[in-house]
Amino acid sequence: MVKKTAKKTAKKVVKPAAKKAVKVTKMVYAFGGGKADGNGKMKELLGGKGANLAEMAGQLKLPVPPGFTITTEVCTYYWNNKKTYPKTLKADVEANLKKVEKITKKEFGSEKNPLLVSVRSGARASMPGMMETILNIGLTEKTIPGMIAKTGDERFVYDAYRRLIMMYSDVVMEKAAGIEPKDGEGIRKILDGKLGDLKKKLGVTDDTAIPAEELKKLCVEFKKIVKKVLGKEFPDNPNEQLWGAIGAVFASWNGKRAIAYRNIENIPHDWGTAVNVQTMVFGNMGENSATGVAFTRNPGNGDSHFYGEYLINAQGEDVVAGIRTPSPMNKWSSNAHSAHLPTLDKTMPKAYKELDAIQKRLEKHFRDMLDIEFTIENGTLWMLQCRVGKRNGTAAVQMALDMLKERLINKETAVLRVTPAQLGELLLPAIDPKAEANAKPVAKGLPAGPGGACGVIVFNSDDAIKLQEAGQNAILIREETNPEDIEGMRAAAGILTQRGGMTSHAALVARGWGKCCIVGCSELELDPAKKIVKMGGKTYKQGDSITLNGTRGWVYDGALKMLEAGEGNKNLAAFLKLADSIRTMKVRANADTAEDAANARKFGAEGIGLFRIEHMFYGKNSEAPLFILRKMILAGNEEERKAAVAELFPFMKKSIKATIKAMAPYSVTIRLMDPPLHEFVPTLPAKQQELAKALKISMATFQERAAGLHEVNPMMGHRGIRLGVTYPEITEMQSRAIFEAAAELIKEGVKAVPEVMIPLTCDVNEIVKQQAIIRRVYEEVVAKTKVKKLNYSVGTMIEIPRAAVLAYEVAGEADFFSFGTNDLTQMTFGFSRDDIGSFLPEYLKQGILEADPFQTLDQRGVGMLIQHAVTEGREQKPNLKVGICGEHGGDPESVEFCHREGFSYVSCSAFRVPIARLAAAQAAAKEVLAKKK
Ligand code: ADP
Ligand code: MG
Ligand code: MG
Repeated sequence: MVKKTAKKTAKKVVKPAAKKAVKVTKMVYAFGGGKADGNGKMKELLGGKGANLAEMAGQLKLPVPPGFTITTEVCTYYWNNKKTYPKTLKADVEANLKKVEKITKKEFGSEKNPLLVSVRSGARASMPGMMETILNIGLTEKTIPGMIAKTGDERFVYDAYRRLIMMYSDVVMEKAAGIEPKDGEGIRKILDGKLGDLKKKLGVTDDTAIPAEELKKLCVEFKKIVKKVLGKEFPDNPNEQLWGAIGAVFASWNGKRAIAYRNIENIPHDWGTAVNVQTMVFGNMGENSATGVAFTRNPGNGDSHFYGEYLINAQGEDVVAGIRTPSPMNKWSSNAHSAHLPTLDKTMPKAYKELDAIQKRLEKHFRDMLDIEFTIENGTLWMLQCRVGKRNGTAAVQMALDMLKERLINKETAVLRVTPAQLGELLLPAIDPKAEANAKPVAKGLPAGPGGACGVIVFNSDDAIKLQEAGQNAILIREETNPEDIEGMRAAAGILTQRGGMTSHAALVARGWGKCCIVGCSELELDPAKKIVKMGGKTYKQGDSITLNGTRGWVYDGALKMLEAGEGNKNLAAFLKLADSIRTMKVRANADTAEDAANARKFGAEGIGLFRIEHMFYGKNSEAPLFILRKMILAGNEEERKAAVAELFPFMKKSIKATIKAMAPYSVTIRLMDPPLHEFVPTLPAKQQELAKALKISMATFQERAAGLHEVNPMMGHRGIRLGVTYPEITEMQSRAIFEAAAELIKEGVKAVPEVMIPLTCDVNEIVKQQAIIRRVYEEVVAKTKVKKLNYSVGTMIEIPRAAVLAYEVAGEADFFSFGTNDLTQMTFGFSRDDIGSFLPEYLKQGILEADPFQTLDQRGVGMLIQHAVTEGREQKPNLKVGICGEHGGDPESVEFCHREGFSYVSCSAFRVPIARLAAAQAAAKEVLAKKK
């Protein structure tokens, strides 16, 4: 036997870098007037917004209102130095403001020709929860008359002023100052209330209908309220306004909401935010002005037409704030709510044409779908922002395929454009986005279970089951659910409850099953006794159709058109085919029955990485084999045991044969019996008596033998290959079942190459002993059946650290390694997976561990063992096949790790197979792209 101890150490894993002292160099970057100091690649320094403003202004020479970006390094300095700025910042900002004044021919704070600016935050990654933008900075008692004289529009100027007071008092004077509003009623809400009162008094609905005189009076009132509520005068000095706003952006980086958001999204806290100061352009200057948000393609369904919304005579976030219904950009953007409104290509054809040309250029330049913010001031178009647009799964797949066809991107990039989570959305039944765009929800609740469901209403579980048996889809509506509803919930296509939150029974159960579910839909007027429900003003009775969108939490009237999940979706198939063309790792499934195997193939599995023999003792049709297994376990001597083993043989052979057949011509890895024996000892007295009778022993003897099986720590007890060591006849029987099944299949013309897998190996000598039995049985089967070409291999699971450490030796006797990362994680950490509930949450909370190692492979610790085992194993046997069959096999990050470590395949549960196919392709694509660079 080969003896060699581990010598090479695995690659060093890089730890996150320690905080570095930031040396601030250039602090302010100008943009505008056809030039820019920075560019789109400088997201770390300028933030996402600032970098792309620079790119649009400098590289693409697009109409961007001039301004400048204060770098993220200044933010870091600010926080490292007791909220102070580098000494030269003030002068730098002043110098850059001068540049802007020169380009715009306006002057900040001037009485005659005032320049107004916006102050906009901008982290590297878009971060809701950060400071909001402040517009119209520079409006004061002194500059207001100048603005009115210049524009001749008093209403506009006071509209801008009241917005400034609202935003500034909210963001700078309240939030950044750390003032907790009384009764949750912040200054913004109070001022909004006043504005609403005024509209009511005047009998108008739109802000735009308030006359100048009234707005002017409102501004006076606003300032009084600010003074009263926040105890401070609203600043009337332009520089005070500017620096107040800049400080608020930096302060907001460590605001409660921002920190919470970064924690959820895993954004490092030391990145910092940039500040953008930019010349104001006005979409609220009358009927020839507008502001809008657009996407270069439809983010809801991936349709390649320009898509967006706009509002005439509006400013800032009016479009998204929902105060007026925005109008569609063009015919492709209209929906049921906006179809009657005039489109931008009709109302402002010149600006639209220009915008359309720009969006096309932007998409070509950035090679991705972009989210664009723009403003039209008196017919002149200004670009205010662009960034890669968010999209749902359907749209992501459509766009990736389209852009590849258009040669905008290469296939590696296309594959990387869809996240595994987005792909997951497509594997659920869903409402056809086209149908949904034209439907209005009748009720809204919480999105508890994703995907869509369409069916007829039932009000109790029995009716749901009846309907399912009749082959119909049921939507189960309940006040709330409890464990007694389980059967009905299972039978229903979708679940809708009136009460309960995201952690209610219905929500938890539905999420676990991946079932469409909406909870806490309090608008429902439900009468389960009468079997009626009222929503959206209509009364529904049992048997009426509704449709649920569980991803949004919306309920629709009637049966909306549904998209078939998974296979029915041509785009999904095409996309996965693309992924398959890139990946180098195979993807197998963990499957225990012929049925599972057939299902796994539908999802694209290329073999079974884990077939658990003992699975035949659980679930459907397990009665008979389980009874025999129990006899085997409780046998008093070898003879009794051998008899039971012989009885078990036909069951095992049948199950193996059916599964190999269902997966042929792909390989099936059959793992020898693994679980702790005592798990199978019956606990019900009736069952015990039956068994005692079959064994022809007394109950006392039975109890004695059962007690003998007791183990203090069964997970580390008499299981796995240890069973084969103590009872070789069990290995013998399993081997015979495997080889006879394969031989019969070969005779039937089915390709069968069984892979026998030895579980829980800790020493190579275990394999040596088992190999001898397996080989002997093989010879016997070949002699008996006379099949010529019966190929097989014998490998082992690597799930005990010692086997990983001694992989060089182990590989000498194994044809393949399959990492059982569940047990390997368990034994490396010394954490019992079934008992982590009592301490792991604390480990995560205290930051001792970053993630649950049973969900995300611990690449540093367990990963190092794997890396070592693969390296040493392949040194011994260069063509050693290496796979993974733990739960991690379906986790995208872990799949990427497996690719990097040169695995031959990953194996995961059937429904995760498409996700694993994508993850494997993305890992390969990243490698290809990195090489190209
Ligand atoms: P967010 O990060 O939330 O998108 P932005 O900084 O983009 O915030 O500001 C929100 C909106 O304010 C913009 O979409 C735009 O309509 C408006 N806005 C910001 N700066 C200006 C400006 N200089 N001129 C006109 N409108 C602006
Ligand atoms: Mg915003
Ligand atoms: Mg924006």
